[in-house]
Amino acid sequence: STLRDCKEAHMTTSATLFEQACRHIPGGVNSPVRAFKGLHRPPIFIERAQGAYLYDVEGNRYVDYVGSWGPMITGHADPEVLGAVRERLDNGLSFGTPTAIETTMADLICGMIPSIDMVRMVNSGTEATMSAIRLARGFTGRDKIVKFEGNYHGHSDSLLVKAGSGALTHGEPSSPGVPASLAEHTITLSYNDVDAVEACFEEIGSEIACIIVEPVAGNMNCIPPLPGFLETLRRVCTEYGSVLIFDEVMTGFRVAMGGAQAHFGIEPDLTCLGKIVGGGMPVGAFGGKRDIMERISPLGPVYQAGTLSGNPLAMAAGIALLTKLREPGFHDALAQRVDTLCHGLRERADAAGIDMITQGVGGMFGLFFTGQTRVDNFAQATACDADAFRRFFAAMLDEGVYLAPSAYEAGFMSSAHTPEDIQLTLDAAERAFAQLHQ
Ligand code: PLP
Repeated sequence: STLRDCKEAHMTTSATLFEQACRHIPGGVNSPVRAFKGLHRPPIFIERAQGAYLYDVEGNRYVDYVGSWGPMITGHADPEVLGAVRERLDNGLSFGTPTAIETTMADLICGMIPSIDMVRMVNSGTEATMSAIRLARGFTGRDKIVKFEGNYHGHSDSLLVKAGSGALTHGEPSSPGVPASLAEHTITLSYNDVDAVEACFEEIGSEIACIIVEPVAGNMNCIPPLPGFLETLRRVCTEYGSVLIFDEVMTGFRVAMGGAQAHFGIEPDLTCLGKIVGGGMPVGAFGGKRDIMERISPLGPVYQAGTLSGNPLAMAAGIALLTKLREPGFHDALAQRVDTLCHGLRERADAAGIDMITQGVGGMFGLFFTGQTRVDNFAQATACDADAFRRFFAAMLDEGVYLAPSAYEAGFMSSAHTPEDIQLTLDAAERAFAQLHQ
């Protein structure tokens, strides 16, 4: 009730801060989805976070299912992660020289993900995918890349490309500023469409440098791969000498310790990492087979670099977090929490007569307002009821539950979410579903 009482004041404070932000920051935000665009309300300004909770500038508490978009898998402000950073802080922030902690991180990643023989640290998921694509092109001497509609791999030029009119036509830039001459090297196919992949490789397989894929799609809500999809990608890449890149920026260390590749038992040639690997600090990484990775500078001719890459504080945070995830049963318990939440949400939606389904893998999940029984691709995801989502999101926010502010983002569970937090979420959802009929 405090939350409801505070709602007016809180809206005013966040609205005022948002207005101030908009003066000198484009759209008031440093990353677009934070702006709550299309939700008809200003974003909530957060002051601090602890465990499963966010606290806004008014002191209101929200059960958080965004987790800073994925990194906070053990909850916010994890004492062991903060402690690891604090311990290194007084040594200095950055040296631009090799540090021993970078080797510790590389050894840890290679030990956890068997397909990675060598790894290079970068500062974001975008850098990881951009560099992996360059490496795949440099390694194969080919220009064309294949990606899937609704998969997001960061904002580099080659990856901001949508499908042309037919599956095998040249891609079109999906943002002004991306040259058409670059976009034409990107082929965009429908996710989970095995036939389209096979047809594409039969026609131009020998020109394709790589396939890049989210092994569980988490940027068009949450869409798991259909049986046979990842297997087909592996098979055609092997057959045509193309590099298979799994973008595990979101799924890495989340759907299983070894990522989606461990969960589904498919080995990519290169893997991109981000989010959890930095424990909440700005970190990404890409790695994979030795013969490919040895082509990067300074060993090989494919250039890649970074002033702050492998930053010691960021490594300390990431290592502390990854180390915690090795606790036996960690991912099973996380998946169990996701099951409890999703099952409870479906039950309450059914009882309220709302068409809603859930999909999830390990520690990630999605809600779809649809009468379909499953959602397997972008066209189906975008056919869901966006208005029902918007109203459900708003009602949940007023109830003190922070879901991703977009119908096309996955939800993230953390080990800090207690059964009571999940029950609170389900009670809130029951009231929110009731409102959808009004
Ligand atoms: N790849 C995937 C699968 C992502 O989900 C994201 C970001 O959400 C990225 C790449 C880009 O990462 P970053 O935002 O750190 O640049």
